[in-house]
Amino acid sequence: MQQIGGAGLLKSALLGRCPQCGRGHVFLGLLDIQPACSVCGLDLSAHDAGDGPAMAGIFLIGAIAVILALWVDARFEPDLWVHAVIWPVVVLPLSLLVMRLAKAMLLGLQWRHRGTQ
Ligand SMILES: [Zn+2]
Repeated sequence: MQQIGGAGLLKSALLGRCPQCGRGHVFLGLLDIQPACSVCGLDLSAHDAGDGPAMAGIFLIGAIAVILALWVDARFEPDLWVHAVIWPVVVLPLSLLVMRLAKAMLLGLQWRHRGTQ
């Protein structure tokens, strides 16, 4: 088994790759985890990130969105409908991106520290 360090785990998470081999794809679609790595056969279904990725999205993107919304409101004083149009377009893709990254990172950390094969 190849041992990947912290930088390797971060790189594999950023690329959505298997934490063990760094080549197989972790995701089946946008956020679903593949049952197993197609390259090395690592059982990915044994790892469950739970609510961790959602919490990362809520805390990170929520804080960024509130700060930006307050700044936009103070700076430009737009009508409320402008906020209603802008923020879903900004928040939804960023939330999906953060959840995807957090899910891959948590999967890699679980693989590394739990040692599940
Ligand atoms: Zn693999």
